[in-house]
Amino acid sequence: MVFVMTLPPLTCITNARIFDGERVLDARNVTLEGANILNVGGAAPSGAHVVDASGCTLLPGLIDSHIHADPESRRISLTFGVTTVCIMQGFWTREQKQALDQRRDLADALTSLFAVTAPQGHPHEFIPKGAIPKAPADIDPSELLKYASTPEDAIKVVAKRVQQGADYIKLMLEDGTVFGKPGTPDLSDEVLEATCNEAHRHGKMAVSHTMTLRATQRAVEAGIDGVMHVFLDRPHTTEIIDTIVKSGIFVCPTLVTGASTIGDSDAADFAKDERVRSRLSDAWLSALHKHISTYPQGKTEYLLETVNALHLAGVDILAGTDASQPSIGGMAPGASLHHELALLVRAGFTPIEALRSATSIPARRFGLHDRGRIVNKARADLVLVQGDPTKNISDALSTKAVWRQGIKLAAL
Ligand SMILES: [Zn+2]
Repeated sequence: MVFVMTLPPLTCITNARIFDGERVLDARNVTLEGANILNVGGAAPSGAHVVDASGCTLLPGLIDSHIHADPESRRISLTFGVTTVCIMQGFWTREQKQALDQRRDLADALTSLFAVTAPQGHPHEFIPKGAIPKAPADIDPSELLKYASTPEDAIKVVAKRVQQGADYIKLMLEDGTVFGKPGTPDLSDEVLEATCNEAHRHGKMAVSHTMTLRATQRAVEAGIDGVMHVFLDRPHTTEIIDTIVKSGIFVCPTLVTGASTIGDSDAADFAKDERVRSRLSDAWLSALHKHISTYPQGKTEYLLETVNALHLAGVDILAGTDASQPSIGGMAPGASLHHELALLVRAGFTPIEALRSATSIPARRFGLHDRGRIVNKARADLVLVQGDPTKNISDALSTKAVWRQGIKLAAL
């Protein structure tokens, strides 16, 4: 596939099946003007560039609610129709962010910047001793403050993140259980609660890395807004489902990451698909042939059952990949969001319900009111695919064109 940047003309996409982020519409036309949707359902304005989308489905640009993306991962994500990513750990300065925000060949990004973690807490257990990365030369090390062992520390770290432009606050709640690293320093209940309260005081959501049932429970009790990952260490219980439902939090299960952590991901089969292979480098393809495999005692079937139970109970489920670096097995940017959608369908979601998890639901939960839906005046963040992913989720990979804020990246 060749991706070309073109200027945004008045464009009318005609004869398309339209999934608007919630449902399939009767309308067949969408007109774009500049960076936005001018109207849904109207006839092609005279002089508009017409794209005949017969046999295709138009979707809102997809949203990956959990990624660790450098610019290259954001570029790859966009080629898979992922127009927005939510970065859950990482760092850039305001100047670096502004420069990246100008680009239309990358997925747009929200970020937590660095997560709040215990001193030597997650993800330090994965960094070889003596190899703690130094701050980049152009960044003042005081800007990287991220450790909290007391509520006072938490308040300072949250204030720093807000000042640096974080869109939400991420916490690392991890005791090492699922990574074979027992004794990993973890956040205390007091720090957890202080972080959530301080984030809320600044008008930000607090979201947490949680991979065990206990961590999930602790995060909910502390006032978290959403958990990243579904717990791996047990099958679900009625109590935890009730607790999550009552709390109103969302869950971004990252089934792809859970299956890789257990070591039985089918990512390698997924990577054989030509529509996946053709868009990934050898390094990312080889990542899909590896597993994290630190928790072989887990069962992916439990994860699927938990997610379906949460979904049936009305919990908002957000699709996310946790794609990070090729050295971490099982995930790749963009591609793994489609793998996640397939796993959600395997868990019992209809294809439409899975697609909502990557469009309207994350847009609503992250307060992105300008996207995730195909409605008048929304951002023209769109994906056109061959076939009907509302019936066959795999068709979401048959990308014909991607628009980010009206800029078309793929030639039809
Ligand atoms: Zn992550």
